[in-house]
Amino acid sequence: MNTSIESIDVAIVGAGPAGLMAAMQAKRQGLSVALFEKNRPGGQALAANLIENFPGMPNGIRGPELVQRFIEQVKAHGIQIRKETVTNISKSGDLFLIKTTSQELKSSAIIIASGLSPKRLKITGEEELLGDVIFSYDNPDELPASDKRILVIGSGDAAFDQALNFSRIAREVAIAIRKNEPKCAPILLERAERENIEVLTGYIVRSVEKTADGVLVSFSNDERILTDLLITCIGKEQNFNFIDDVLLKSQVPGLFWAGDCHRNMDRHISIACGDGTAAAMDVAEYIGSLKTKNQ
Ligand SMILES: Cc1cc2nc3c(=O)[nH]c(=O)nc-3n(C[C@H](O)[C@H](O)[C@H](O)COP(=O)(O)OP(=O)(O)OC[C@H]3O[C@@H](n4cnc5c(N)ncnc54)[C@H](O)[C@@H]3O)c2cc1C
Repeated sequence: MNTSIESIDVAIVGAGPAGLMAAMQAKRQGLSVALFEKNRPGGQALAANLIENFPGMPNGIRGPELVQRFIEQVKAHGIQIRKETVTNISKSGDLFLIKTTSQELKSSAIIIASGLSPKRLKITGEEELLGDVIFSYDNPDELPASDKRILVIGSGDAAFDQALNFSRIAREVAIAIRKNEPKCAPILLERAERENIEVLTGYIVRSVEKTADGVLVSFSNDERILTDLLITCIGKEQNFNFIDDVLLKSQVPGLFWAGDCHRNMDRHISIACGDGTAAAMDVAEYIGSLKTKNQ
């Protein structure tokens, strides 16, 4: 292994709430930290319209504002967020080798806080239209949605939440559901009906095509809908494409997890923050034990 490469105590993958908190706690434990983020720091919290369940915010707080505060706090701890995608991690002896889009470095421990990404429809036409007329879980206020036709794909709470958010600004909003019943909380369905959101059941998307008049969505029941923006809310998947199966499936000493990427259902900012803090404390203890072992 190249010995001239940077060597640190802990590398953290992802600067969402879990990674940001892990970095702060690791720094407080006296560890050297490298925090990597492939997109904008803040992760999914950036998309939250109004966060009402984070402590210390009696009137709630918008996601981007909470993230801004997190980032200021991280900077106040002297932590720099490296705008790099982690592409591979491996372990040799007691050390991890981390490869990113622009460097390699060694660390004694890693915290994976890489969160989740929206699942894709995986249908013809989707890839080219992503970020143009197809979006997922984005903050409605950041999309050109005013006076537009919006079609939301999905049947859970997130889909209904998004549809309700868009109904504040859009001309018309509909939700297309694969099955015959939505999976959302009954209160969200009631609210959607009150806001005149059309709920279409038995609609499985087959393809999408951009036309002069909008985006034409074709369904397997032979129906077609012309809309301006297509919002997909069909679930999420773990961002694990930089970890091989051996590291993923075995208990590797020095490898720690935090936040949504290792939780099935409890996906909240406060939980991710707590996880990040706990992971950094575990790292400090682990590195202490490594030092004792190598004395
Ligand atoms: C629309 C919406 C509304 C929500 N509302 C609320 C709410 O009101 N209250 C609440 O408590 N929770 C809410 N949540 C959930 C909350 O945002 C998540 O639970 C929280 O963000 C999880 O934090 P995390 O750090 O584990 O993961 P994430 O926020 O997913 O952050 C992971 C980060 O890792 C980065 N990353 C991934 N792979 C790599 C890589 N290879 N290299 C470098 N970086 C990488 C990602 O870009 C991302 O920034 C909401 C979520 C959404 C989508």
